[in-house]
Amino acid sequence: MWDRLLTNCNVATMDPAVPGGFGAIEDGAIGIQDGRIVRVGRRIDLAGYRAQRVEPLGGAWVTPGLVDCHTHLVFGGNRAGEFEQRLNGASYEEIARAGGGIWSTAKATRLASLEELVEQARPRLRALMAGGATTVEIKSGYGLDTMTEMKMLEAARALGESEKVRVAPTLLALHALPPEHRDARGDYVDMVVDEMIPAVADAGLAQAVDGFCEGIGFTPDEIGRLFEAADAHGLRVKLHAEQLSNLGGAALAAGHGALSADHLEHADEKGVEAMARAGMVAVLLPGAFYALRETRRPPVDLLRAHGVAMAVATDCNPGTSPILSPTLMMSMACTLFGLTPEEALSGMTVHAARALGLEGEIGTIAVGKAADLCIWRVSRPAELAYWVGLPGPERRIVAGEDANI
Ligand SMILES: [Zn+2]
Repeated sequence: MWDRLLTNCNVATMDPAVPGGFGAIEDGAIGIQDGRIVRVGRRIDLAGYRAQRVEPLGGAWVTPGLVDCHTHLVFGGNRAGEFEQRLNGASYEEIARAGGGIWSTAKATRLASLEELVEQARPRLRALMAGGATTVEIKSGYGLDTMTEMKMLEAARALGESEKVRVAPTLLALHALPPEHRDARGDYVDMVVDEMIPAVADAGLAQAVDGFCEGIGFTPDEIGRLFEAADAHGLRVKLHAEQLSNLGGAALAAGHGALSADHLEHADEKGVEAMARAGMVAVLLPGAFYALRETRRPPVDLLRAHGVAMAVATDCNPGTSPILSPTLMMSMACTLFGLTPEEALSGMTVHAARALGLEGEIGTIAVGKAADLCIWRVSRPAELAYWVGLPGPERRIVAGEDANI
C-alpha cells in the first residue's frame, strides 16, 4: 500500500530515458511512498496498485518541481531607490559616488541581523515557491567578510528549515572587493582562502564555492586559488563566467571539475568545448540579460552542438536581476535566447539539478527520486514557457507532502 497515487494526469517526466518530448507519459499515474517516487507510468499499468490516498487530477500536467539553481536571494535592503534614480536620469557614476551599487547591498547586509536577513528574504523565497520552485540555490556574496558570509549562509539554512522547499547553499567567496581591501587585493584573496573557506567548510554551511571571474571582479589566477582551496576542503565549485567579457573562465572552471559555468554571454567555442569535456552545465540567466539590456546572447547553438546541458535560473539579486518568477525565466529563455520550451523546462528541472550536483535526488520524475512535483492546469507543458506572468502551479509537492504556499 503506497502513501499516494496521483492518477488521471499527464506526466512530463523530463527523464531523458523516457522517449518523446518532455519525456511525457499521457494519461499517466505516479506512486509515492516515504517521500519518494516508487512508480511512474501509464495509468492503466498502475491500475492494480493501492494507496492511502488516490488523487485523480482531471488531466492536469505534472512536472518535476522546478529547480532554481542560481540565486542571490539573501541580502540586506534592496536597490529599488537606485532603479528609480537611474530612471529619473542619474548616471551610474552619480549613483556609485552616492554609495550605491553592490557596496550599498553589502553595507545593508553587514548591518542586518541574521533574523532580519531571514525575514527580508522570506517573501522572495515564497514568490519563487509560488511560481513552482521546490529547490532554490542561495549564494552568499554580499558580506565580503567571513562573519557576514557565514551569517548569509546561516540565513539560507534557516529559510530551508522553515519553508517547504529545499535550499542548496553556495559560498560566493570572490564576488566583489570590499572597500577596506581596495589597495590590497592579495590580502583579501588570502583571507578568503586561509580563513573564509575553511570556516564555512568546518561549519558545513555550503555545498559549493563560487566566484565572479570578470574584469570588474576577479582574475583567473585569483579564481584558480579559490578553486584549489575549495577542492582542499571537499567543496564543489562553480563560476560566474563570461558575462561581460571573456577571461577564459569557462575553461578554467572545467579544469577544476566545476558543476557549472553561469551567464556565458561572451563564451567562445574553446570554453564550450572544455565545458563539454568536463560534463559541466551551462547556466543561462536571461533575467540579468534583460535587466541590463544586454545585446550579446549566450552561444546557444555552440552549446547545443557540443552537447552541453543548459540550465535556466532567475539569478534573483537586488542589482542586476530582481526576478521573482521561475516561469518568466523559461519564457525569457525562449524569447530572448531562442531555447525551445522543452529546453527551457529541462533547464529548470533535470539540468538545473545537475548544476547543483543533485541529479541523483531531484530534477526528473523517475523511480527512486524524491517526490518533488508541480501540478499545472495547462493543456501542454509548453504553456509554462509561453505565458508571461503565469501565476504558478495549482499545487506543489515536496518530498511527497503537499507544500502549497
Ligand atoms: Zn549570479
